[in-house]
Amino acid sequence: MAREPSTSGSSSSISASTGFTSSVQLDMDGIIEIIRSSGAKIVGLQAPEGLKRALPNMAREISDKIGAEVIISGDPCYGACDIDLDLGKEVDLVIHLGHAELGEGPDKFIYFEASMPGDLKDAVGNSIPLLKGRRIGIATTVQHVHKLKEALKVLQDHDIQGVIGPACGRARYPGQVLGCFFGTVKGLDVEEYLFLGTGRFHPLGIALSTGKRVVASDPVTGEVAEIDPDPMLRRRWGAIARAMDSKKIAVIVSKKPGQRRWETARKVIDLGKAKGRDMMLVYLDNIEPDRLLNLGVDAAVSTACPRIALDDTAKYSVPVLTPQEFEIVIGYRRGEDYEPDECL
Ligand code: SF4
Repeated sequence: MAREPSTSGSSSSISASTGFTSSVQLDMDGIIEIIRSSGAKIVGLQAPEGLKRALPNMAREISDKIGAEVIISGDPCYGACDIDLDLGKEVDLVIHLGHAELGEGPDKFIYFEASMPGDLKDAVGNSIPLLKGRRIGIATTVQHVHKLKEALKVLQDHDIQGVIGPACGRARYPGQVLGCFFGTVKGLDVEEYLFLGTGRFHPLGIALSTGKRVVASDPVTGEVAEIDPDPMLRRRWGAIARAMDSKKIAVIVSKKPGQRRWETARKVIDLGKAKGRDMMLVYLDNIEPDRLLNLGVDAAVSTACPRIALDDTAKYSVPVLTPQEFEIVIGYRRGEDYEPDECL
């Protein structure tokens, strides 16, 4: 079940530092009401690192107002896919903060999204000098997704038509992208894209999955830039080249519920075996470089979060590929058909 962020700005919302210059808002009234009406006596709280600082105050408030025992998940939480199933066994209800529901988790996990305060007008305004097209696809992450209509208005004021792709797949909202899903931007009849949000991974994914120019404007830092996918592609082609002669290959499957892709992994195993490679399935929770060391593999294919192969590649002593990159290694896919991995 998912709960959208409160837009009321009520005094009972909790602000949590994100480590940048801003904070996010959590609807504490809504959280208390859900727990109260569920009758839960033991409540779990789970949040990504950027929101964890809010958890002690939340736990205290829940205990004071409802009398429930509260247990905080201390493990890292990387996304909506990463729910603490062990914590779920110990409690009546888990409040999962900061992500939009993927529609795959057990009922006792209640998602409360977090919203960034402020609007997107400045971020869109900053991007205008860099935009070249007159018809622009707009995308963002869940923290800003409820403000995309403001972005359309600002573009309109500059005679630019903004287009927001419909919700689909893992994207719960129109215009929302995830690090593992870009379905909302694919196939739009636009000249280029504007990504409103923080970090380079999402706009890079938009550029790679659409093949179009992307401008990224950060509402928190005020930075704006055209995205150049070439440095990342060069790194990926380096990993593909290093894996060409690999014989012993680990195919990683994640224990995290929303990253567990057995079907994809078994397809990779079959393709590799058909090409004479020594393939093995490896089941892991947190995927760290030292987990692969003692297996003595020459390469790995990650079917877990696509960001693992793309963001963390320098940490590993062996090349870690996406399933699509492995298909290039074994000649099943042509290099010109390179595409980013997605959890579809
Ligand atoms: S698989 Fe990765 S990108 Fe997708 S929701 Fe999970 S952590 Fe985020």
